[in-house]
Amino acid sequence: MPKYAVYAIYTASKKIGEYEADDEDQALEMSEADEEGVMLCHQCAGEIDLNTDPWKFEANEIEPGDKDE
Ligand SMILES: [Zn+2]
Repeated sequence: MPKYAVYAIYTASKKIGEYEADDEDQALEMSEADEEGVMLCHQCAGEIDLNTDPWKFEANEIEPGDKDE
């Protein structure tokens, strides 16, 4: 009978920063230089295989722009 190792695949996110920008695309562009990657502590690294390449980037509006600007 075959034997299986089963893995749970999780996702995680790390806030890179906050940027005032015209739109999401510009905010993503501005954040590029600040992306420093992620690391696990020694204990977590024994349990979790972390893919250190970001899976995707996402910009969420946290404050509305001033409409009179
Ligand atoms: Zn840890």
